[in-house]
Order: sequence, then structure tokens, then C-alpha cells
Amino acid sequence: MQSVTVLGSTGSIGVSTLDVLARHPERYCVYALTANRNLDTLFEQIEVFSPRYAVLADTTLVKSFADRLASAGLSTEVLGGEDGLCAVAREADVTMAAIVGAAGLLPTMAAVEAGKKVLLANKEALVMAGPLFMDAVERHGAILLPIDSEHNAIFQCLPPQNQLGSGQGSPFANGVRRILLTGSGGPFRTTALADLAGVTPDQACAHPNWSMGRKISVDSATMMNKGLELIEACWLFHTAPSNIDIIVHPQSVIHSMVEYIDGSVLAQLGNPDMRTPIAHALAWPERIVSGVGTLDIISQARLDFEAPDEHRFPCLRLAREAAVRGGTAPAVLNAANEIAVEAFLDGRLAFVDIATVIEQVMLTLEVVEPQSLADVQQADSKSRVLAVAIIAEKALI
Ligand code: NDP
Repeated sequence: MQSVTVLGSTGSIGVSTLDVLARHPERYCVYALTANRNLDTLFEQIEVFSPRYAVLADTTLVKSFADRLASAGLSTEVLGGEDGLCAVAREADVTMAAIVGAAGLLPTMAAVEAGKKVLLANKEALVMAGPLFMDAVERHGAILLPIDSEHNAIFQCLPPQNQLGSGQGSPFANGVRRILLTGSGGPFRTTALADLAGVTPDQACAHPNWSMGRKISVDSATMMNKGLELIEACWLFHTAPSNIDIIVHPQSVIHSMVEYIDGSVLAQLGNPDMRTPIAHALAWPERIVSGVGTLDIISQARLDFEAPDEHRFPCLRLAREAAVRGGTAPAVLNAANEIAVEAFLDGRLAFVDIATVIEQVMLTLEVVEPQSLADVQQADSKSRVLAVAIIAEKALI
């Protein structure tokens, strides 16, 4: 029986994780669940899973939520803030890192530093702090398994010696020639360029294949998500951006591919449902049922592939530049993106200006080699402040 903390249990990945866990009560018990604003969903999850702890990001809500649990006869203890998140991330056998954005960095690092099995959905943590993160994985003997469907697919296609978990060196030393990172192209792949300026948050969040949280849905629409995934893949698979090709594959049936020096190309296919990579990583190296149905390849019939259009998706170019530049550049990119996406979702920024804001921030801020998480957080803060100022200026024009 393994204990599992689900950081961000009220979100899209969190809910899918609980769905898989509920199918295997003999293997897993829920140690802790965490939320930010969605306390009603958290309450319902506590009623079903009876975790030892619940953690609220906002400490001021702890007392009233604890009272609510107590009056319902629920014995789950309520903790609050970053300290609470880090504590429950450290203590369980397995931590699902599914908080969205930079807020996930410290709790995810806490699980890594405790040498635990870490299921990484929170790509932003790795994007921001790649070298420090991977160094911590190795030093503390953590097992890092990717949840992003593309990275999980790549992991499944790696040479056997690289499937022993992280810390096994580069798959490029074991016959891999190239990684093909696939992406659907999002809801605006074929939208006329002139119409992109007027798209709404709901249109941007209506992903053709995947059901996801709003931030990552917007990232998919700008293809920043693929850019963040490129940076994530460089760290997870110990390689340079030039060894990773991004391929647009609108059907999202192939989740990514690995090409070998003998010409073999291995792909992982499946229905677009995050319960597959979640179940894979939870049970790894075994396999368990996830609830995902059989892939109907006959009715799927055709699979299309295109080169990505960086004119349509400038965020892809910006992310590749940040990946090549290294240092704090990815942290700056990520933070500016978070602020710009939030402004777009609030109706304060046009869709096409997300990339403009990020580019302005990247051109302005100095890039340094981070020596510590404090350096990363400083770059993140500077980027946020500047992005907020640029957006405010745009609103006045
Ligand atoms: P959601 O927005 O659906 O959920 C985010 C979770 O994080 C919620 O539990 C939310 O709490 C919590 N949260 C938000 N802000 C904070 C904060 N400041 N402090 C603590 N907790 C916070 O996101 P997704 O589930 O879609 O994505 C989660 C992560 O997984 C992201 O990094 C994303 O890139 C990655 N991912 C997601 C995929 C998907 O299919 N959804 C696919 C691959 C990767 P509350 O709900 O209470 O506000």
C-alpha cells in the first residue's frame, strides 16, 4: 500500500488522479489533498478519500475549513500555506505535482528533496529551475516520472536502460537520434490570422481534443504549452533543444515519438485522456487499469502531421530562444507568460498580445545563471512586475 499526496487535487489533473486512485484501493491510500480556491470540491474529495491531511494555499481559510470538516464529522487535519504544501509533499510515498504554475515549484522540490517518487505534471517547476531541479533529483535519489502526455510517451519509448527512472544519463548515449514532440496545434491552428486578435478566453479554452485547466488550455492555444514542453523535455531527457523537433499532429492520437540511430521510430498512441499517463506513472514499472477505453484506430482512420508555423505561434519561437539561452531565461519566459495569460483570461489583454508582452519582458531582463532557488524566484518576480507594467501600459493606449 502506497500513500499518495495529490498537490492540486481540485484541478483537472488532480481529479483524474483521484479517478485512477479510486480504481485501486488495494494499492494506494490518499495521504493529502490540496486546493487553492475550490474548497467545495476539496470538501467532497475529503468525504470520499478521507485523507490524513488537507492543505489550503491560503492560510486565512484554514480555521473555517477545519470547522466545516469537524461539523461534518470528518477527521482530516487542515494545514495551510507553502509550509503545509511542502510538508505533505515530503511525507507521502508518492507525490503527484499538479499545482498549476510557479506556485508548484517549492512543494514539488520538497518532494524531490525528500527522495520520493514524484509524478510531474507541474511542468512550470522544471521549466523555471531545470538545472537545480534535476540536480536535486540526482542528489536525493528521487524517482521522477513525467505526467505530461508527450513526455510520458517519450519516456515509454526510451531505451530500456533509460526507463529505470531519472538519473540514468542521456538516452542519446543509448541509440536515440531525435525526439519528436507532438502537439495538436490547439483550437486556432487553422483560424485566419486576422481573426486571432479578437478571440475570447472561452474560444481559447475550447481545446479540440483535451479537457484541461484554463491556463494550460490558453498555453495550448498559443502553443506556449509546446514551448514549455520543449524546455521540460530538454531537462527530462538530458538533451539540447536542437535534438527535439516539434510536430503538429491535430488528432492527438500519437502522444510523441523517439527516433533511433538505426532508423526505427517508436511512438506511443492512445486516446487523449490524462488517466493513461497518470496510471502509467503511478504503477510504473507495472501497469494498472486507468479507466481509459480502447483506442478505435479503425474509426480514427487517418493521422496528419504538419510543421509548426512560428509566425502563427510566436510563443514557440520565444520558448525555443529561452531554451537555447538557458540560465534564468526560461523562468522569465514562464513568469511573463503566467501574467499575460491571466490578463487574457480576465479580458485585459488581447490574445495576440500574450506573445508581445513575453517578448518585451525577455528583451528587457538580464539573464543570469541561477545558483539557488532564490535566484530563480528573483527572476520570476522581476518578470512578473515588468509584465504587469507592460500590460497596464497597453491598457492605457
Ligand atoms: P487546473 O487549473 O485545473 O488545476 C490547478 C490546481 O492547482 C488546482 O487544484 C488549484 O486549486 C491549484 N492551485 C492553483 N493556484 C494555486 C496556488 N497559488 N497555490 C496552490 N495551489 C494552487 O490545472 P491543470 O490540472 O490543468 O494543470 C495542473 C498542472 O498540470 C499544470 O502545470 C499543467 O501545465 C500540467 N498539465 C496539465 C494537463 C491537463 O490535461 N490538464 C496535461 C499536462 C500537464 P483550486 O482549484 O482550488 O483553485
